[in-house]
Parts: sequence; structure tokens; C-alpha cells
Amino acid sequence: MSFTRREFIKTSTTLLAAVKLVTPLSVIAAVAEKSKKTGASKAKIRYLKSTCAHCVNFCGINVQMENDVIRAIYPDPERAPYYNVGICPKGVSGVFNTYNPYRIKKPLKRTNPKKGLDQDPKWIEISWDEAFKTISDKLKKIRADDPRKLIWQHGHGKYLIGDKFPKAFAKAFGTPNLVHRTTTCEAARHVADELTWGYHGFLPDVDNCNLLLNFGGNYFEAEQFARWLDHATTDAKERGMKIVVIEPRLSSTASKADEWIPIRPARDVILILGLAKLLIEQNTIDEEFLTSTTNATALVGADEFVLKDAKGELLVWDEKSKSAKPFTEGVTPALKGSYTVNGKAYKTSFQVFKDSLKDLTPAYVSETTGVPEKKILWLAAEITKHAKIGATVIVDGHKLRYRPVAIHTFRGLSAKEFGVQNWRAGLILQMLIGSIDAVGGINLHSVYKKPQYFEPSKAEYPPQRVDLQESVFFPHATHNVAQQVAQTVMNPKKYGLEYTPEMQIFYATNRPFSTSDAVKQFESLEKTYNVVIELVMTETAQMADIVLPDLSYLESWHLSPTRYTPHSKHTAIRQPVTNAYQIPHDAYSILWELAKRVGILDDYVKGINKNWGLKKYPLKTGQDYSAEQAVSHIWQEKTKGKSFSVAKAKAFVGKHLETKKVYLSGVEAKFKGAGKPKMNFYVEQLVHTLENVKQQKEKYHLRDINMGQYKLALSPLPKKEHGFPVPHRVALKHPFYLITYKRMFRNQSGNTALNPILNALGADVQENYVLINSQSAKKLGIDNSSEVIVETRVGKLKGKAKVIEGIRPDTIAISYHYGQQSLDFPEYAKKGMWVNSILENHSDVVSGMESFNDSKCKLYKA
Ligand code: SF4
Repeated sequence: MSFTRREFIKTSTTLLAAVKLVTPLSVIAAVAEKSKKTGASKAKIRYLKSTCAHCVNFCGINVQMENDVIRAIYPDPERAPYYNVGICPKGVSGVFNTYNPYRIKKPLKRTNPKKGLDQDPKWIEISWDEAFKTISDKLKKIRADDPRKLIWQHGHGKYLIGDKFPKAFAKAFGTPNLVHRTTTCEAARHVADELTWGYHGFLPDVDNCNLLLNFGGNYFEAEQFARWLDHATTDAKERGMKIVVIEPRLSSTASKADEWIPIRPARDVILILGLAKLLIEQNTIDEEFLTSTTNATALVGADEFVLKDAKGELLVWDEKSKSAKPFTEGVTPALKGSYTVNGKAYKTSFQVFKDSLKDLTPAYVSETTGVPEKKILWLAAEITKHAKIGATVIVDGHKLRYRPVAIHTFRGLSAKEFGVQNWRAGLILQMLIGSIDAVGGINLHSVYKKPQYFEPSKAEYPPQRVDLQESVFFPHATHNVAQQVAQTVMNPKKYGLEYTPEMQIFYATNRPFSTSDAVKQFESLEKTYNVVIELVMTETAQMADIVLPDLSYLESWHLSPTRYTPHSKHTAIRQPVTNAYQIPHDAYSILWELAKRVGILDDYVKGINKNWGLKKYPLKTGQDYSAEQAVSHIWQEKTKGKSFSVAKAKAFVGKHLETKKVYLSGVEAKFKGAGKPKMNFYVEQLVHTLENVKQQKEKYHLRDINMGQYKLALSPLPKKEHGFPVPHRVALKHPFYLITYKRMFRNQSGNTALNPILNALGADVQENYVLINSQSAKKLGIDNSSEVIVETRVGKLKGKAKVIEGIRPDTIAISYHYGQQSLDFPEYAKKGMWVNSILENHSDVVSGMESFNDSKCKLYKA
């Protein structure tokens, strides 16, 4: 006798209840025993390939099915040569998200008009038809009035059906307000990349790297590319690659490194600039790379502008003719020095940078970063030794630059008030040693794909978008400004918005919960009519007027995003393996139905074709397409006509990249040599942007724009001042630095907070702690039994102390993903601290990035 789906659901519900009371392993054993007794082993077992979307790694999975019930999730071994070797505990536990009894199963309508985290919405179930009618009537009214009053927000939803569908819907509807979450991830890193080399995204070439400097990228736990980087760096380490992790807390990744350097929070930029100074002084830099490929030779005036000719070509100092010329054939640009052109003084941008480093002596760097002087000198020596300046290597017949030193980071360098400048410093250090796109260095993704990133921002005013993207407030925020929406909704006039937002649709995002100063974020939801498409009743869903259930990633179709590596890439799909609660819609079909009822379906379809680039296999107007049909069209387009049966059988196709593509199609092809644009060692466009901001401020009398703050943020080169964010400068009565981090088991709390298995892995996983160094704990009389208060200028939290050695004595660390507030969540999901509720928010002016790691706090016994 086999397990039916209903029996399985009943069992998993029992399991959930039992998990709260007893040890999980005994419960799991009981389930296995029951399955044996019921003859499950005789049931029909089959496997279905798909792609995990439990987090942003999109690992290949092989789902074991017993009849129509998911029994287990394994890694797909065929995906290993292209991306993931294994899967993580979250991926394994995904089955319990799908069979989660706390899932929303029917559309719900609020009957309590009062909204708040403490308010019971008094839901009533409604039919899908009533839900669609109510929402589409509201949408039609808004569209007729001013479509900009609709805001669409997604987070993980972007990866469930892909942002190209919501983007097409928003365009067809007429609203510019589609907002993703990148400013709560690593937007500053992306923007620094864009300003420097015209697109974003890079990976360390770990297969060939010999020294990996990792600034707080925790890829043994929770991070993009983690399921490739964990295995790839382990293999590289066995081969002899040295790993140095630089971060205030000893993360899982740091624990596997050769060296952990516990730096003071926010001071990374100072350490990197200090290293740059040492390398320049020792003359262990790649002058050839800087001269041929970057604008380090551009002549810069005292006003910070680059000298250009009448055609707008930047000028260099030609050592042959002793004159200023564009870098064309026959010109030998000077890298260093000061020159006079038409009676005015200029320096090369390299010289400007070099001169700006004069205060960054090892003693100063040590004093500000807390890293011993000896360690700084050692690090500079290691970089010099491993960078092998001038070396080449022959690979597949190509003579390539060999610089096996790479810097890696995600939020470590970017989740800061000066996030762009932090990663700019990292890029400059790698330009100095010439390791960009070299064998063993960092490998850039789609170099110079968007030359417009080299243009200054218009710094528009009044802003078009509710998140103020690319406006005078966040001039280069090309990745939306997630946390700003709530503030603008609360007070649109303050920001010059010409309309008042009326309705928000949230798709698989708990945005207000996961930003800084989070309690205030929820207030904005009282101002708008809210529709939430979700799996479970999150805090954002609790503030909704209508909630629509969604299908889980194991129940729905999608042309999945994938993670490439420097040497491979693949195209993948996600396919449904079950439908646990027979829910008839997911976000794809919800959008389709709404587009139809609002009367924008044809435009929506045209938008889908445009956004997905469907030329040979377009969707036609005038007919309906299921999610499966749409995915089949996209698959065929992306794989140049490969049969959809391949997708259903294997879920992916992959390829390994040719050496030429990996190392010679990026900076070598786009920037190297005379007559080509140059990679921005010096980001002059920020100087122009500052001018534009100044003009807007004067024209519109914008009193809230602080030009001193803008001048510092929009600097063409990183400087030591970028190591001192606001709380560090002014919260002087708060002695500790407060940093945040992600944990493997609870990363993406929307997918993990309610997962009974992930919550049953032991006391350490069930809640988060206030991590404090043993020396500081002793001084404060704190031990592992202490309840403590963490107090910032925003608020206070009570939590349990955990005394450890692996953190700086001046730093406190608390992980995200805990302390859920939703009234509908079980008690186990509410354990721990909601650290976001006490973080200060000082978004990076350049990129809009959230400053998650800059707060300061007091700590005392409760
Ligand atoms: S790393 Fe993410 S995508 Fe991969 S198995 Fe784990 S949860 Fe799934």
C-alpha cells in the first residue's frame, strides 16, 4: 500500500506539531517507520529534475517522487560540472515548504479596516472570481486616473516567475513603479562595477587563483553563487590557494580560511587604500595594464574634471611629443606626473590617486582599522608575491596575463553608507595589480554592455518613481531603492513626487520586514490599498486588503534564472512536481488574468515578447498561454530551438566556455589599447553628477540636499573619509559596532521561518543570539545565561547573549531572519530578535544601498 498525498500531508502536519514538542529525529524516524509499515517501499518511485528556488542559487535538483508525493530532494549530479555539486539543508528541506500546513490556500479579504502589526485583519475567504473582480476594478479606476499610483514590489518573486513578466505588466499598465530588492542585497557593488567597467557582476577565477582576499562574503552559508564557490574554493585550497577572510566576525567561511583578519566595521576602504599605497610605493604595480586599459593616464584638473578635446575625447600626456593628446596609435601615455596644458596644471588620475593616499600610512591604517601594522605589511607582501606582475601563461594556445590574486565580496563591502566607494577601492586595488580578467584574478561579466553607465546621472527632479531611483536623491541607483518606497508613500510631497500612491501589489516579498528601521516601514502600508501574493501569512500579508495564495517553487513553471561560473553557463527550467493543495493559480496566471480583465492583455503580451527577446518563438496576441506554454516558448528561444522535451527530462542544458571567451572578450577586447574607451580608474561621471545635483538643488530650492554629504559620496576616487559612516561619527554614546549577517538555515526567512525541519535542527538554529567577544562579556558581567538589551538610536531589543572568541571585542553581531511578528505564525517562527527593527538607515547616496552594517549600539544586562 502506498502513501497517498493526503496521508502525506496529514503526516507532515503531525510532524509539524510534533516538532514543537519532541526531538525531530525521533519524529523523522516515526515517519520512516510508518512508511515502511504502509508498504511505501513497494510504491512507484520516480525522479523529476528541476531547479531549486529556495534561495538565489538556483541549484539543479532531482526530486524523488513516490506516486504523486515528494519524498526527497537530491542534487542533480548532471548539473555539477556547470554549477552546484551538492545542495544545502534549505534545498533538502524544501519539501516541507510545499506541504506546509500554514500555507495560504484560498484568497482572503480583510474585514478589519484598521491595519497594524498588532491588528487582526479578520480575514474572510473569497472566491478567485471575487478576488480578481475586486482587484481589477480597483486597477481600472487607478489606470483611468493616473497609472503611476500603482506600485508593484517583488523580492524573491523575481525568481519565481521572473521579473520580465511583472515588468511587462507594469509597462502595459503605465506605471514606472516596479521595485525589486537589490538595495537590500548588494546594489552598491553593482553600481561600483557599472561606473567602472560598464556593467555589473564578477567572479573570482578560483580554479587558477593562488590568493583569495574575501571581504565578508560568506559563501559557505548564504550568498549568491554559494553552491559553486563552496566546492570550488575547497578544491582550490587543496591545490594550494591561500584564503584570507577580512571581516569583524569569524564566519563559517572565515573558519575555513588560512587567515582571518578581524577588521573594525566599516574601515575596509581604509585598509584597501593603505594596501594600494604600499604597492605603489614599492612599485609592485602593473603599469602596463593601468596605461593600456584604464583611464589612470587621463589628465585631471584641480576642479576634478578630466581634460578633453573639442570632440570630447579624454586627453593624456604623450611622452613622445610632450603634449596633451587623445590616446590614439603612436601615443605613449604617461601614467604618473603633473603637466601644464594651456597654462593650467593637470595631473594624471593615477597621480591624483597616489597623492590622495599620503595620510594612509601603515600606522594610520592600523589605528583606524584595528588591524596590526605587521599584518598590513604581510598582506601587502602576500599580494605582491602572488600577483606575479608581468607574468603570462599559455592556455589553449592563447598567451594570457597571469595574476592569480582575486578580491571577493558581497554585502561585506557594499551594505554600507559608502558601499559604492568601498567596492571601488577593491576594483582599484585589482587594477593596480592588473588582475582583472587575468588568469587567476577576477572575471568580469558582460564588460561594457551598457556604455550609458559611463554617463553622468541627470539627477532628475521631480522624481518619476516612488523609490526615487536615478533622481537627485539617488542619482546612480540603477537597481531600484527598495527601502525608500515606504518613506515616499508616507510623505510624497517631501520628495517632490507629483502623485500620491494608492495601491501596492507585493509579490513574494516581505520588504518592510527586511529593511532597516523596519517598524516605520510598516506604517506606510496603512496608506495604500494592498494586494499580497504569497505562500504564507507574512507580516506584509497581514497588512493586505486582499491576499492571494501562490504556488511553491516545486509546483510551478518558470524558465529559471541560473548562476554561471567563469568557465561555464547553463539554461534551466523549473517544473511542477506536485500541487499539494490544488491551488489553481500562481503569480503568472494571476498577472495574465488581471491583464485580461484590465484590458491590457495585448500590450502585456507584446511586452513579454520584448522583455524575453522572443523573436523566433513569440507569444501571439489574442490567445491565452498557460505558464507551461510560455516557458516552452522562452526555452526554445533561449536554446535556439531545443525541444521542450529535453527541458522536461533534464531541466537544463549547459556549456563550458572557450578560453578566448573567458579571458579575451572582456576588458582586453573592450578597453585595451589606443582608440578604445577605457576602464574607469577615475570615475569622472560622478563629478558631473555632482554638478547636476547642485543645479537641481538651486533650481528647485531643495533644502534637504546636503551638498557636503553629496560631494563626499560622489567622489571620483575612494578616500579614507568613506570609512566613517554617520553612526560611527555621531553615535558616540553607543560604544559597540553592530553588524548583521545571514545564516545558512534561516536565510530567505520567507522560505525558512515556518519550515519545521529547519526549525528543529537544535536550539542554536531555532533563534538568534547577541554574539559578544569573551573579553567584553567579562567586563560587562555577561555570560551565556544572560539576557541582554541591545540599544541603538532607533530602538531596543532583548535577546540572549552568546559569548564567543570569534568576534572583535568592540563589535556585536546579530543575524537576520528571526523574531517574526505575524499573528498567524506559530510560536517557533517568532523566536529570536528582529534585528532590522533597530538598525539605522543611511542609504548610500550614489546607489541607494541600505547601510545594514553601520549602526552602533549599547549593550547591557536586561
Ligand atoms: S543553495 Fe539555495 S538554491 Fe541551492 S539547494 Fe540551497 S536553498 Fe536551494
